[in-house]
Amino acid sequence: MSNGQGPLAIAVHGGAGTIDPTAMTVEKEAAYKSALSMAVRRGHGVLAEGGSSMDAVEAAVRVLEDSPLFNAGRGSVFTAGGTHEMDAAVMQGSDLRAGAVAGVQNVKNPVRLARTVMEKSGHVLISGRGAFEFAHRNKLELEDDAYFFDQFRHDQWLEVKDSAEVRLDHSAGEKKFGTVGAVALDAQGNLAAATSTGGMTNKRWGRIGDSPVPGAGTYANNETCAISCTGNGEAFLRAVAAHDVHALMAYKGLSLQEAVRIVVHQKLPPLNGEGGLIAVDRQGRVVLDFNCTGMYRAKMDGGGEEVAIFR
Ligand code: ASP
Repeated sequence: MSNGQGPLAIAVHGGAGTIDPTAMTVEKEAAYKSALSMAVRRGHGVLAEGGSSMDAVEAAVRVLEDSPLFNAGRGSVFTAGGTHEMDAAVMQGSDLRAGAVAGVQNVKNPVRLARTVMEKSGHVLISGRGAFEFAHRNKLELEDDAYFFDQFRHDQWLEVKDSAEVRLDHSAGEKKFGTVGAVALDAQGNLAAATSTGGMTNKRWGRIGDSPVPGAGTYANNETCAISCTGNGEAFLRAVAAHDVHALMAYKGLSLQEAVRIVVHQKLPPLNGEGGLIAVDRQGRVVLDFNCTGMYRAKMDGGGEEVAIFR
């Protein structure tokens, strides 16, 4: 598989949670599916042209960050202070390098910034004001607050603004859902993962979720698999969810499907870990699993393209 002829595979997600099927109109469902399809095709196109899995996951996630339908980049949820503070991470399986940002504002594509952190900062995870300055210094595209404003997100925030409630973007009634992510295997046999999010509505005190933390919401290791998670970040952090899938494969010899099943259906639920994850192994097998009513997801591998929301 090192001759550049190996199988190609990519998967994306746009969040998981309690999605109410009755609140989903035909038009909305079509809009979500078309954005997911565009993202997975964009990423697959990169792989098909011989691009790396890192290039592919970045390209796919950027499509979803640029769409106001998802809680990442444009469309990020509001914090308690009425701002948008975004988290993102990338990780590559060939050498376990990773880059991440937390609580960053006004950066158009946090996934690009996470990758720049990996490539140029000498660090893994940088936050807030410093992350913004790093973006500025590296000439990343910046946007003013108006770019991130979305009426739906604003209304969602107004419902909980004066309370202590921190709401998972996914969990009540009719929603626009989530965090976005991608995992890929390229022709060289290299795995990569990326995740990007606005976090939870009404979050306070610089709260950071699992998405930008390598091993929790994002992980890639060529020995086993690449993973991107979505759901209640506190639980995914405590379960070290993404790394746990890797560990079950590496130390116990489990298949990707079995490892994912244990983490999603046995380890996360007792911690209140509602959500799911997308994963791909070194053979290009894709697993998309969740313990709630739905997960916005798409994949493209040897078996063609699949886009789905509900089970
Ligand atoms: N995991 C994200 C967080 O807790 C939320 C999500 O997946 O939508 O920040």
